Amino acid sequence: MEQSTREKELAKKKRYYYKHREELLEKKRVYNRENKEKVSAQRAEKITCSCGSIVRKAHIRRHEKSSKHQGLKTKKSKEDNKKTRRIRQVKELIGVFTAQGDTEKLNHYQVELETLLN
Ligand SMILES: [Zn+2]
Repeated sequence: MEQSTREKELAKKKRYYYKHREELLEKKRVYNRENKEKVSAQRAEKITCSCGSIVRKAHIRRHEKSSKHQGLKTKKSKEDNKKTRRIRQVKELIGVFTAQGDTEKLNHYQVELETLLN
């Protein structure tokens, strides 16, 4: 089968890696030893994922594949959809009560809209 340019590049990198494996690993060991503090600070760095979880930066890809992340993302998007629908409804109601001149109901829904948008 015909290899794409990307696949060829990857294969080339792989061959290079295996050819120079020992040398590369030694370089890495030396670097890590000489930059101990920097390396451990980088490894400890935490970020907030889009799902709301706090994750080590180095593990973000692994976390994104986890069921915890998948579950939270689904829950979050369901909540977001619900909120978006309610915002639309409230805006429609505001339009209706503006037309009717019902200030009491208008005020009520304007307060709700502000709460939803914050
Ligand atoms: Zn996540």
